[in-house]
Amino acid sequence: MQHQVSSLRKKFQDELGQVQHSKDVENLKVKYLGKKGPVQDLMQHLRDAPPETRPLIGQQINELKEEITRLCEQAMHSFSQLEMAKRLTEEKIDVTLPGRRHHLGREHPINQALDEVIEILVGMGFSVQYGPDIDSDYYNYEGLNFPPDHPARDMQDTFYITKDMLLRSHTSNTQLRVMEKHKPPIRIIAPGTVYRNETISSRSHVFFHQVEGLYIDKNVSFADLFSTMDEFLSKLFHTQVKTRFRPSYFPFVEPGLEVDVACTSCNGKGCRLCKHSGWLEICGAGMVHPEVLKNGGINPEEYSGYAWGMGIERLAMLRYGIKDIRMFTENDMRFLEQFA
Ligand SMILES: [Zn+2]
Repeated sequence: MQHQVSSLRKKFQDELGQVQHSKDVENLKVKYLGKKGPVQDLMQHLRDAPPETRPLIGQQINELKEEITRLCEQAMHSFSQLEMAKRLTEEKIDVTLPGRRHHLGREHPINQALDEVIEILVGMGFSVQYGPDIDSDYYNYEGLNFPPDHPARDMQDTFYITKDMLLRSHTSNTQLRVMEKHKPPIRIIAPGTVYRNETISSRSHVFFHQVEGLYIDKNVSFADLFSTMDEFLSKLFHTQVKTRFRPSYFPFVEPGLEVDVACTSCNGKGCRLCKHSGWLEICGAGMVHPEVLKNGGINPEEYSGYAWGMGIERLAMLRYGIKDIRMFTENDMRFLEQFA
């Protein structure tokens, strides 16, 4: 039996000498020390040995077991170090390789224009409020002094979801919500998407963006509206622009106005951009109608205010000389890449 122990030791040492990989060491250890392995087998046969030699042989088998465990662990350790070193060399980063190109997106021209308008107005003391895209007829129309069957409703072809719910046709739906929540002075802008059931053409789309402005306080007058518009538009066009105010009609303001700026392309002389009028229409505005103030819980005897609504697509088209509003939604990279 002693001979069997020493030949098994020899066999193990030979096999360990052949091993190339840490995985093979693991397999070798299992092979020798496993339940059906030769070491266990020797233990089974220990009872066949003469009783006086049993303790000695048992000790030798245990020593072999410990030796196999120790040698395997040592081999495992050196193999894993070698393998790690090899992996590190193979996977080393080659700093001389050219880097991978990342194609960065850029901000959509409409978002650029929106952000700029918001930044200027926030700088002028307005805070930003958001109204819902899906709203009730009350906030979009009725509360803003558009009674049912009022002909002014036909000015904005509306997407109705139910009889009372709709996709807002203007950002003015934010006005009453703000008045209900806040006491004057109110000085807010409300940017967002608006929806109209119109035939898509070079000049109109089923959705576009507006920025609503609303200022309510004691003694707010036309002069405040004019000076705010002048300052805002001059900042927007980076030059002192000439403005013109024409009477217009919107049910929620009284009186209502269209705000024009002298054509930034021809300085008012007349060109294709301004259709030879010398003026560009920029937004609708007016003094908040007393009925609207009342609906918002504000006493029109005590407070007054102005409001405006400005189309962002129109602004971007004027600024960049874009002739077709559909360009903004077609995702043509050749178009979008021009707005770095
Ligand atoms: Zn012009």
